[in-house]
Amino acid sequence: MLLKNNSRMSNSELAEELKVSRITARKVMETLIKDGIIKNFTISMGEEDRNLALILTDKSEDIPEYLILEKYNLMDGTSVSVIYFEDLVKLKNVHVKRIEIASSRTINEDASRNTVVHCDYCGREITDNPITLQIARKNYFACCPNCEKDLRKRKEILAEHL
Ligand SMILES: [Zn+2]
Repeated sequence: MLLKNNSRMSNSELAEELKVSRITARKVMETLIKDGIIKNFTISMGEEDRNLALILTDKSEDIPEYLILEKYNLMDGTSVSVIYFEDLVKLKNVHVKRIEIASSRTINEDASRNTVVHCDYCGREITDNPITLQIARKNYFACCPNCEKDLRKRKEILAEHL
C-alpha cells in the first residue's frame, strides 16, 4: 500500500514506516517482486532519474544481458556493468566485488561525436591531437605537417582563383 502511494520509497523509508528492520523490508520487497505482486513499479518512475547500480565483477561473471544498460571491460580483467538499481534483486549467483549507486546518468553525445576528426587533406582519421589551421577564416584539420603544408597550398591556390 505504501508503494502504491509512492513507488519511489526506499527500503529504509519503508522500514521506518513499517517499524521493521531494513533487512526485513528488503526481504519483503524481494518476495513481492519474486511472487509477481510488484510487477510494474518501474513504469511509474521517471526514466531519466532512476537510480543506477554500477557493479564491479570479474569479466567471467554473467549478469543477464537484458539487465545491462552499459558495460565496460576493464584492463585488469574485471568489468563494470550499469543496471537499474531496482534490478539488483534480479541478480542471482553473481559474485560482486563492489557496487556503487548513481542517482542519475549524463551522456554527452557532443563530446563523443567530436572525438572523430578527419584530415581535411588526405581524409585519414586523426586519433591524436590534430593540427588545426585557419585559412580564409575557416578552420581545417591536418594529420601531419605534410598534409598541413599541402592543404595550405591547395587552399591558397583555390583562394587566388576565386
Ligand atoms: Zn593527412
